Amino acid sequence: MSIVEQSMTSVAPLEPPAGSAAGLDRVRTLTEAALEVLGQVSAGRPGPVTAGGPAAVTNAARASLSGPLLPEHPAGALETFVTMVRDYATWSVDLSHPAALARMQCPPTPVAAASELVVGILNQSLHAWESGPYALELERYVVRELADLVGYGPEAGGTITAGGSISNLMAILTARDSVLAARMDRRAFADGLGALPRRPVVLATDATHFSIGRAAGICGIGEDGIVRVPSDELGRLLPAELDRTLTGLPADVLPVAVIACVGATDQGWVDDLPGLSEVCRRHGVWLHADAAYGGGALFSPRLRERLAGIAEADSVTLDLHKFGWTAATSGVFLLRDAAGLAPLSQQTTTLNAGDDAEAGFIGLYGNSVQATRRAEAFKIAVTMRALGRDGMAAMVDGCYELARYTADQVEARPGLELAARPAMTTVLFRFRDEDENDGDGHDLDALNGALRRRLMEQGTVLLARTRVRRPDGTQPVFLKIMILNPATTTAQIDHILDQIVHTATGLTR
Ligand SMILES: *Cc1c(COP(=O)(O)O)cnc(C)c1O
Repeated sequence: MSIVEQSMTSVAPLEPPAGSAAGLDRVRTLTEAALEVLGQVSAGRPGPVTAGGPAAVTNAARASLSGPLLPEHPAGALETFVTMVRDYATWSVDLSHPAALARMQCPPTPVAAASELVVGILNQSLHAWESGPYALELERYVVRELADLVGYGPEAGGTITAGGSISNLMAILTARDSVLAARMDRRAFADGLGALPRRPVVLATDATHFSIGRAAGICGIGEDGIVRVPSDELGRLLPAELDRTLTGLPADVLPVAVIACVGATDQGWVDDLPGLSEVCRRHGVWLHADAAYGGGALFSPRLRERLAGIAEADSVTLDLHKFGWTAATSGVFLLRDAAGLAPLSQQTTTLNAGDDAEAGFIGLYGNSVQATRRAEAFKIAVTMRALGRDGMAAMVDGCYELARYTADQVEARPGLELAARPAMTTVLFRFRDEDENDGDGHDLDALNGALRRRLMEQGTVLLARTRVRRPDGTQPVFLKIMILNPATTTAQIDHILDQIVHTATGLTR
């Protein structure tokens, strides 16, 4: 036997590509097995997460993941897959459970989830024409349609991103480069920020999402280059305060971007977009609307009024893995003028030969900070076209109605205190035992923190926690319900609130 023959007999059999005839057969077998297991796990679990808390998950993972990542004698695809699907599902958060109320993770629709399988099998990418010709058209279509929905005109552009954080990074990047080019004739992307006569800064409030600070750090503006504008009692950015702050900036500082909050992560309120855009235009500053959460209101004829003026912003962040019912990630970055993306397409690569582009062989690597990029547009387009305008509106309005119902029920329960009427789909509340002396608030903070942890350990209810700014300057701990599952019933909400009060009462006895 030759060395070549010997080595060929000693390797394991090769797997067929998923998209081949033999591969599709295997995918079907694997998928059916997985769906079976997912159904069993879901039916056997009483709450949104398996009880036991961090220790139980760590122990379960230690037991089930004890072998090496590259076993010498693997069990084979089906057995490995089914075992791992079972473990993964058993210890996952069940986002379809009505008490999964903590994070901004929507339960995807069936058609969105099935689209993910197709995206995985076809495995297209957006960087070059030959990496995914139709995926490129889908991306352009989804970006154009969403820009229309925001109210942008034909000059608009954008890109689908790996989430709101990346969209916000692209906003700071495009704002920095556009404003430095317009005001100082600098090409920041090419030349960097060294030796600038004025220091670029970003204006935001304390309520601005932390991804903006990161983006400023990455873009060379620095987290310390964020100027915090005083806000109102809720945290809203006031046009008059912004005007005053911009006017009062030292001469060696150049404001490049103002961040407007469109749907605050906690309380859901929206900044005064028409007022802010007027101030920004007057000062020559880029206005970015972070609508990662509040963008959902665009789908609701009833709520979209609150986003009036969003098309006056220079750029917008949307997150369809929050409101949009597609799986993560489905971030979107839109700009009023697509020319703002130009710095990303200046690099000469093997992807942009002039004669190829002239012949129409154009990829989208120049619209993104990524090269290889998943075709997220497919699941977004399928989901939205399947649900339609009324379907999307009903999903968003359903969540909003449920949040209002939940707030009513919180107010009706003596042990619970509501922070404010919901502006979107979050409900902020805390437990407050009547006997408990509030004092300086520390006991209630500790109690509500412990309550949230106990509910997670029991696996009964998943809530988020935050702090609510009070007029007296205190910032007590509040718990947060985030409603993104419109299939939840009012009876289920009642039951969840009863469970919360019951568990809290147990903690105080
Ligand atoms: C969720 C959120 C982000 C971050 O989005 P990711 O998709 O989690 O990266 C940014 N801004 C706001 C207001 C958000 O709610």
